[in-house]
Amino acid sequence: MTERSYRGRFAPSPTGPLHFGSLVTAVASYAEAKSRQGQWLVRIEDLDPLRENPEASDHILHSLTCHGLTPDEPVRFQSQRHSAYQHAIDQLLKTQQAYRCACSRKQLQAHQGRHPERCREGECQPGKRPFAIRFALQDERCHWQDDLLGAQGQQVRAETDDPVILRKEAFYAYQLAVVVDDINQRITDVVRGSDLLEMTAQQQQIYRALGAAPPRWIHIPVILNEQGQKLSKQNHAPALDDQQPASNLIQALQALGQQPPARLQRFSVGDILKWAAEHWRREAIPLTSR
Ligand code: GLU
Repeated sequence: MTERSYRGRFAPSPTGPLHFGSLVTAVASYAEAKSRQGQWLVRIEDLDPLRENPEASDHILHSLTCHGLTPDEPVRFQSQRHSAYQHAIDQLLKTQQAYRCACSRKQLQAHQGRHPERCREGECQPGKRPFAIRFALQDERCHWQDDLLGAQGQQVRAETDDPVILRKEAFYAYQLAVVVDDINQRITDVVRGSDLLEMTAQQQQIYRALGAAPPRWIHIPVILNEQGQKLSKQNHAPALDDQQPASNLIQALQALGQQPPARLQRFSVGDILKWAAEHWRREAIPLTSR
């Protein structure tokens, strides 16, 4: 059997402009894809209108273009995919792999923030109360291979709670949408930050519940600020300076343990990315955040 041809993606949530940490993820997923003669896609995960600002998506896409990171297919926006997520939820409800949950925040707090599971047994009848929909996790020890970090294991029920897949505010949740789109876009390889490593076992169960094979995963270390926090909008990570894309790309490659030669400073962004794909060494990526 021939191997499925490589399809990777960069899937930012538009909570703010592109910062250095997200550029590192974008470059890693791009270089992985291109070093394998693969396709590289961009998907804007704009599921949460309360946390996202409308300009952020344009800002991110503009920055990617300035850095020469052009996707091989039109950019996908999750805000335009609601019917696909609803279809998946209907399927999961029908097969009893998802359930309605009207628990209030107070009720969850009374259980140390964890879901008391009554709803799963059908005891929780929302009636007119607003309800969320949760995915019913299987209690199992999950094992998988991370192509950078090696063998991984997680006791799914003991360490995690049934994830919300449709929020009470009627927003579709990341945990479902990311799987539905990775299946639909035939993504074979996911490269993303190690802050999402703990989501992977749950996502594997959602793949299985939707009848699809999971992709391969690489979780790269997240970039930390001087206080040792993940670079993120919440921690006020500065936006990338789109006026100096070449030096941003070179710094991103250095953060990924690659050794771009000094002459690259004079290259165009296209040629820097070409160098990155040709000289890409996954084994040089540092395993811990810094
Ligand atoms: N949208 C997610 C984020 O920005 C990443 C999703 C993923 O790569 O699985 O954190």
